[in-house]
Amino acid sequence: MLPLSDKFGRAITDLRISITDRCIYKCVYCRTGNEGALYADLPFSDYLRMVRVLVGLGIKKVRITGGEPLLRHGVIDFVRELSRLRAVDGDPLDLAITTNGHLLAEMAQPLKDAGLRRITVSMDAVDPDRFARITRVPTGFDNVIAGIRAANAAGLAPVKVNCVLMRGFNEDQIIAFGMFAREEGVIVRFIEFMPLEEDRVWSPKTVVPLDEILHRMAEYRPLVEIPHQRSETARRYRFNDGVGEIGIIAPVSHPFCGHCSRIRITSDGKIRTCLFSIWDHDLHELMRRGASDDELVEFIRGVVQRKEERHHIGEPDFVPASRTMVHIGG
Ligand code: SAM
Repeated sequence: MLPLSDKFGRAITDLRISITDRCIYKCVYCRTGNEGALYADLPFSDYLRMVRVLVGLGIKKVRITGGEPLLRHGVIDFVRELSRLRAVDGDPLDLAITTNGHLLAEMAQPLKDAGLRRITVSMDAVDPDRFARITRVPTGFDNVIAGIRAANAAGLAPVKVNCVLMRGFNEDQIIAFGMFAREEGVIVRFIEFMPLEEDRVWSPKTVVPLDEILHRMAEYRPLVEIPHQRSETARRYRFNDGVGEIGIIAPVSHPFCGHCSRIRITSDGKIRTCLFSIWDHDLHELMRRGASDDELVEFIRGVVQRKEERHHIGEPDFVPASRTMVHIGG
């Protein structure tokens, strides 16, 4: 079967699938703090069928996300089922989860045993008070640290720790995160704040851009850039003594849309071809109406042809996405 590619010639090999719209964290760059889940969760068997069909079309990497995916009972069994799938070249899938880490300490080893390959934990401050101010959850910090350590110990090393930088909240944590990466043996990845939040507080001034992150980190210790895959979202750096890796995901100041290999499925079964899409495509409705796998394939191919060329963040014609990050699945 022909592998999936869009009209710009980009191969689609990377799927992010949200398995719940619920999250107990209310991070300031993501949530208003007042809204809860807006969209349904589907049975795991439906997600499994979607992934199976997409894997048959050339998907190699599957990242489970949310909302908060570890809130969903049955996620470990879902990982086990996914780990049994094989990519078209016969290899196991590159299977990952993105989590806030709150429930990870108990779940890291079972997830690894079920076949999880990699894990990314979101953590936006290494200082407990600051962490609480950003997440608006008073007791989360210790859980997340325990989760990161458990994941490293379970063999999900090196854990990636994602930190969204938002001016006025945590740009002073950059150096502390550099130290954290070295001490904990994790890869810390700074993410530029994107206009995907419920509160619509984004402006160019709220973004801490790549150059500033590098400049600040150099005050602590110089970084040396190391090669990254073209379709990888993060630019990668090592400290000059070889200890500790830092990544920077800079979709605002250094967009990478030309190398995008991703599509997403929301918790309610809609395909999204770009984080900034202003529409989504109802794969689950087709399944509900009894479509065959061949019909799903035809639908998916048509949707992928409509993948946007690039985002328009910061441009006068920017139209906000039809869903915010937590309701898409980051
Ligand atoms: N609950 C999980 C977690 O905390 O990682 C998964 C869902 S969360 C929406 C996925 C990722 O999106 C997190 O790393 C989060 O920090 C990031 N994120 C959320 N809103 C963002 C925004 N406006 N700009 C950049 N990244 C954002």
